[in-house]
Formats: sequence, C-alpha cells, structure tokens
Amino acid sequence: MRRAVWSTIILLAVGLTATLTAETVFEMRAEKALTSEVAVRLDDMRLRLERDLSSVHSLSSRFAARVAENPDMADGQMRILADEVTSRHRWIKSVVLSRPTVVTFVHPVKGNEALLGIDYNYRPDFIESLRTAMRRKTAVLSGPVTLMQSGRQGVILRAPVFRSGAVPEDTPLAVVSIGMDFDAILADAGLTDPALPFQVAIRRMGDELGGATIYGDPRVAAAAGVGTIVRFFDGEWTLSAQIRPQDLAAASHTTVIRVVGAALTGSLVLLALFSGRLRLARSLPEVAPAGRRGSRRIPLRGVLAGGLLLALVPAIGLSGWLSYRSSGQLADDLTEEYAIGIGSRVVGTVSDFFDIPVRVVRYNVGQARTGLLNAEDKTRLTASFLLQLRQQPVLTFITMGTATGDYHAASRPPLGDDRTLRLIEALETDGRQMKLYRVGDDNRRTDAVSNGNRYFDARTRPWFKVGSTDGIHWYGAYRYAIEDVAGAYDDLGFGAAAPLYTPDGRFAGVVAADLALSQLGDRLKAATDGTAAVAFIIDGAGDLLATSTPEPTYTMAQDQVRRLNAGNSSYAAVRVAKALIDSQPEPEGYSSARGDSDRYYVHWRRLQLPDGPVLTIGVALPQTHFSGPAQAAANNVVILGSAVLVAALALILFAADWVARPLVVLERWCRRLADGDWITEAPLATPVTEVRSLSEGLIVMSDRQRAYTLTLEQKVAERTWELEQANRRLEELSTTDGLTGLANRRHLDQVLAREWARGGHSGHMLAVLMIDVDLFKNYNDLYGHQAGDLCLQRVAGVLAGAARRAGDLTARYGGEEFVVVLGDTDPERALQRADLIRRAVEALAIPHADSALGVVTVSIGVASLRPDRDRSEQDLLRMADEALYRAKHAGRNRISAPAEPEPSV
Ligand code: GH3
Ligand code: MG
Ligand code: MG
Repeated sequence: MRRAVWSTIILLAVGLTATLTAETVFEMRAEKALTSEVAVRLDDMRLRLERDLSSVHSLSSRFAARVAENPDMADGQMRILADEVTSRHRWIKSVVLSRPTVVTFVHPVKGNEALLGIDYNYRPDFIESLRTAMRRKTAVLSGPVTLMQSGRQGVILRAPVFRSGAVPEDTPLAVVSIGMDFDAILADAGLTDPALPFQVAIRRMGDELGGATIYGDPRVAAAAGVGTIVRFFDGEWTLSAQIRPQDLAAASHTTVIRVVGAALTGSLVLLALFSGRLRLARSLPEVAPAGRRGSRRIPLRGVLAGGLLLALVPAIGLSGWLSYRSSGQLADDLTEEYAIGIGSRVVGTVSDFFDIPVRVVRYNVGQARTGLLNAEDKTRLTASFLLQLRQQPVLTFITMGTATGDYHAASRPPLGDDRTLRLIEALETDGRQMKLYRVGDDNRRTDAVSNGNRYFDARTRPWFKVGSTDGIHWYGAYRYAIEDVAGAYDDLGFGAAAPLYTPDGRFAGVVAADLALSQLGDRLKAATDGTAAVAFIIDGAGDLLATSTPEPTYTMAQDQVRRLNAGNSSYAAVRVAKALIDSQPEPEGYSSARGDSDRYYVHWRRLQLPDGPVLTIGVALPQTHFSGPAQAAANNVVILGSAVLVAALALILFAADWVARPLVVLERWCRRLADGDWITEAPLATPVTEVRSLSEGLIVMSDRQRAYTLTLEQKVAERTWELEQANRRLEELSTTDGLTGLANRRHLDQVLAREWARGGHSGHMLAVLMIDVDLFKNYNDLYGHQAGDLCLQRVAGVLAGAARRAGDLTARYGGEEFVVVLGDTDPERALQRADLIRRAVEALAIPHADSALGVVTVSIGVASLRPDRDRSEQDLLRMADEALYRAKHAGRNRISAPAEPEPSV
C-alpha cells in the first residue's frame, strides 16, 4: 500500500515536471517567433507614425510660409490653402489660425464654429502649447488632448508664423494649429487593429511633459518588452509592445500540452496502480508444486498489457513520427511553392508597370505625328491626357512640354488622401505661373487648388532634357517641382520621355509618362497585400526606388534628395535580398538566404529599361511566416499522436483488465477450493467463451471433487469405528492383563486346563494359590482408586517373582484377586510357597491405615490335587477359593489349606 502511494507521488511529480518543461519549451519557441513578428510590426507602425507626423509638419510649414508671404491674405484664398491641408489626410480635422492667441480663421467652419473668436489665453489647456511654440519659434506637437470641437482625443501641431524677413527675436505674427484625430492616426499606423497579437503603448519622451503614457496601458509602456522609438520634429515617442499572455498561451498550445500531460500522467499512475495490484495478487500463498516455485511468474494482465503495448506503442510512435516528418516536409514544400508563387506573381505584376510609360509615350508620339495631339488644341490635349491617366492607375503624370517651354500635364497626386485628378499648366502667356486645378469626372476643371507662385519653364526639367533626343528614353528619379500646400507632390518620379513631331516633321516638344515612387510603392503594397512578402525595386546603384514597406526611400536634406540604399534598409528582408541578388548574375531567379533572425525566400528579376537604368524587382518572404502553420501542423501531429497514445494506453489497460479479471477471480476461487472452502460461490460473470467454459468445467470438477471428498470422509469415519471395535475385541483376545502385566483370566483358564491334562498323563500333583488383598475396598476408599491401582501393580510384582519354575503361572483372576498355578507341587511345598508370598507382600510395607498391621497384606487359599478323569481344574480352583474364604474368616494375612486333605493316591 505504502509502495503504491509512493509510486503515485513520484509519477505525479515526474508528470508535472515533464509537462511544465514541455510547456516552457513550447512557450519559449512561441515567444521567440512572436517577438520577431512583433518587432517587425512595431517597426512598421513606427515608420507610418513618423511618415504621418513629418507629413503634417511639412504641411504646417508650407501653410505658415504662405501666410508669412501674404499676412493679409483674403479669407477665400486662405480657405483654398487650408482645404489643401485638410484634404491631404483624413485624420486632419482642422486648420486654425490665431493672431497670435485669438482665433481669426477656422477651416472647415462646419463643426468648428465654437473655436472662432476665442482667446487661447482663457483656455489653460491650450495656451501652454501655444506659448511653447511661440517661445521655441518652431512647431510643437501637443496632446493628446480632448479636442474642443469634437470632444475626441486629438493631437495639435502648433507652428508659429513669422513675418517674412523678420529677425529671430521677433514675436510671431500668428500661430497655425492643425488638429488631428489621434485615434485615426493610430488606426492608420495599425496600432488599433483588434487582431494584433500584442498590446501596444506609447510613451511621450523628450519634451517637457516627458514620460507620460499617451496611448495604451502604462504597464505595457513601462515593461521592458519589445520597443522602438518614433522620432518626429518635436520630440520622440517610445512605442512599446507586450505579447498578451493569452496569445502566447494560444501560440504555445499550453492547454493542449496540459491536457496531454495530465492524461499521460494519469495513465502512468493507473498503470502503476494496476501492476501494484497484480503484485499483491502474486503474493498470495503459492499453490504451484514446490518444484516449480523458483520459476519466473508473470501475471496475465501484465502479459496482455505488455504484449499490446509492445505491439501498439511502436506502431503509433512510428506512424506519428512519419506523419510529423512528412507534414514538415510537405510544409517546407508548400512554403517554397507558395513563396515562388507570390514572388513570381509580384515580379510579373511589377514588371508590367514599366511597360506602361513606354506604351503611353509611344502612343502620344504617334498621336502628335498624325496631328491629333497638338498644344494649340488645349481642350483635346488635356482630355486625351486625362483619359490615358484614368486608364493607367499606376501613372502619376502625362506631361507635355512645348518647344517654347509651355507646360501641360494631367496628374494623379501621388500622396495624400485626395487623389482627385489634377490638371497643371504653366504657360508663357500666363507669365509661366504654375496653376493646379482639380478635375471632375467630366474632365472639367472644378476649382483651383493653387495658383502657385512658381515660375515654371518645362524646358528646364530633367524629363524634357532626356526626351529631347530621338527615341524613347528613361530618365532617373528626380524631385517633382509641383508646389501645392498639401504636399501631395512631395515625391520623386521617374519615367519615359520622347520628342514629339508635328505631321510636317517639326519638333513640337517632349511628352513624358511618369511614375511616382510613392505610387509605385502603393502598387507594391497592393501586390503583396495579405502576404508577408516585402517587395522592392532597386536601381542600378542599389538605391531603393520603391518598397512595399512604409519605409521612405529617400530623405530631404536642405532641398537635397538623399536616396536610401537597399543595403541600409531598416528591413532585414530588403537587406538580405539585396545581398543575395547582388551575388547572383542571372537576370531572373529564385533562391533563399539567411538573415540575422530569419531565412528569406527571394525572387528577383532584372529589367533593362530602354536607354535607361537596370532595375531589379525583388520579393522577399520570411520563412517564419510560413513555418508557423507548418509548425502548427507538426504540433498537431504530436498532440494527436499523444492523444491516440493515451487512448490506446487506456484501451489496453481496460482490455487487459477485462480479459484477465475473470481469470484472476477464477484463480482465487480455485485457491479457496484448494484451501477446502467448499461453500464459495463459483464465478461466472464473463462473456469470454473460453473463460466461461473453463469456469463451467471447473465448477463441474469441483462439484465432483466435493461429492467424492464427502463420501471419502464418511467411509473413513465408518472404518475408524470398526477399527476401534476390532481393537477392543483384540484386547480381550490377548493373554496379559493390562494393569499388572500378569496373565489374564483367559490365559489362566487355558494354562490350567493344559496343566491339568498334562498332570493327568504324568501323575504329578498340581497346586493353585488363590490370593486376595485384604480390606482393599477400604484401601481404595482411603487412598483413592489410582493409589489402589499402584498397590495392585506392586503386589503383582511380588507374585510374578514367586512363579519361578517353567510350569508356574501367575495370573490376575479378577479385581484384587490373583491365582498362582504351581505344576508338580505337593501340598506341603505349596503351603511353603504361599507363606513366602504372604510374607513378601507384608514386607512391601505399603501403608494401610485401616488394616490391623497398618500395611497391605494378603490372604491365600492353597489347594493341590493329582489330576484325574473324575475331577476338573475347576474343582481345584473352587477348593482354593474355599481355603481363601477360611483364611479371611480366620483373621486375614494368613494362608489356609482345605479342611480335609485329599487322600493321596
Ligand atoms: P476382604 O478382606 O474380605 O477381602 O475385604 P475386601 O474389602 O478386600 O473385599 P471385597 O471383595 O468386598 O472388596 C474388593 C475390592 O477390591 C472391591 C473393589 O473396589 C476393589 N477392586 C477390585 N478390582 C480392583 C482394581 O482393579 N483396582 C482397584 N484399585 N481396586 C479394585
Ligand atoms: Mg475379593
Ligand atoms: Mg479382598
């Protein structure tokens, strides 16, 4: 019993430890995988936030610059500018101008009516940031605060406006405040996605209010989890992430591991208890023959369970292992196939983009040659450009520069939320002022976006220069010169250009079809959407033209464009792919390479653009993204295998018990039978045919055995009784007296008859002495019957000594009477012998308080005769008895002879 308890405790401890270990291992693996995923996604969020915040910063600067140039700008003109700002991002809610603390302009008016005319000095929650911006003379970001107009959480960018040419010490003329919906910015950056497998928090750092958690749980912000820093114009935010325990638990299959662990431990405990019970059964008294006691004995349940386990466990284990391996293999194959699929799809799609500018340019060259494209016919020209632009969503510009430097373009703004098509023109007749118009679906100009101040001559632009020589040429990435307040053209573009000739062969200008890098990036995003793939395009120098990541491919430093080399990307996928592609000479291919933390499948294609750069389109897929499901499938196999194993174990134990139990019960019954317990009820409860007939056979056998045993016992009892009877008779038939060892009465009779007969032949005399213990009744009464027996034995001893010759015989005649037969003895000698005996008894000196002498004495009657035919030995005995009678009468302790001696012959 103690042993069972101990083994249970040990097994439970082992099971618990193993389960916890498995849990920890799975958890560590899941945490590692999740952490790398979190890091990538956090970086994505950071880049988006940085992009958005820097975008709103440049919007504010541009707006402030316009106001500074023209401080007394008409309300309508300012509204156009402000509308540009609010249309740039959907999360920009308002543009407010205060001079410097009193609000003089609000856009849009609707929803912001409450703001107009208020003095921030009376709004302590807003004045602080306004003063900071005025003091620092730079834009500051304040918030999140509850926006006055909407009551929602918002952040406000405040940028001071200084009069043009003002010295830095001057107080600002006004302050531009751009109100943004904080939640919408976060949603744009992907922070509020409810499907995120982790919690995110933002802490504000690097400003006067540093350290406050402005989004999410402060504990997440404070925890040392995965983190990154969002840097923007006015400070920085720490973006922290923490994996949710339930996500980690789900990823590491905690519940399943616990269930399997508990089931396995339970089965092992059950197994141990079973074997314990079997041992107990084995320790019952042995019934096997002594000769076989030493041989090994195994319980039936053990044999059955062991056999089944031996057969099943390796089978299950092997099939589990094979499925695990093949599912792993399959997952690897699928991953590769999937990666190749995505890679070639993206590469194919992106390659097609580069056909578009060439086709468009070729088409317009043809149109010009036939006279259909003509700068004189502006309406037709713009309608044609707009139509082509609508047909080619990837294009940003279709532009024509005339020989005189006039500029006509249809454009799709590459940045911002407002992608309404625009028409742009800068005509010599207008003083080369660039003008932007939104265009409705009917191709009509709706409103002027900006009547920009820029002096614009098309002939100075890179595309015009490249396109002036014959043939279609690609030009490299250059910065757009379109100036709008919303910054929708803060981008680089590249494309194809060609010269236009009139039907009579005169040079009419240059046509260009242009792709914005950001638009190309949007296309790459769309092509890889829903996959973990990162797509990118690099030019001959290895600089990134576009990527599907939020990472900017260039930065502006003092109006100088600085391009980002793919090798310096913050995305490991891009860096690894770049290195891999650089090492491969083939124009198109597929391969894989390891990064620091992950392996990437890379697909690439090199495109030689006509008369332009060699572009490389690459797609990289992280292996972990695919190995997740594969690992999950493999884990499922392990879990399923374990479950099947547990079920098999339970089934085996049950089956073994089910088969063995009736046999064990039968065996116990047999033992009871063997111990002679005939009353025990026979066991019959089993459906197993063989065991049941064995049981029935044993019952029949035991019934017979019982009946046989009972008759045998009866017979033995009878025989024993008969034997006792026979013994009794045998005793009677024997010649000695049991108490004294002398001859018994029967023997006496035989000897006396024989001696009588012999005396008759020989003529010798025959004498008998009849001896009787005196007052023996009294002796018994006085000393007890046992003492009496002892006394008789001592007297008998004396008598035995008296029969000295061959013919003599001493016998017990009955009770305390003895007879001594003396052959060939005359009366005289007989008397002598009798007296000798009397004295010898007296000499024994056995105390007798009731006797006259105080000792035991005997009286003896003596008779002797010469045997003849007329008398018998009985006469001789009778004579001796008469003599004894006389001796008693005479006073006892004496001898006596017959009154008349027999006449001698
Ligand atoms: P008397 O001198 O007249 O012979 O007197 P008695 O008492 O010996 O005579 P009686 O014949 O009246 O008594 C014989 C007694 O002997 C009676 C009986 O108790 C006793 N006796 C007979 N056989 C045995 C025996 O085997 N063992 C013992 N202890 N006593 C016996
Ligand atoms: Mg007597
Ligand atoms: Mg007597």
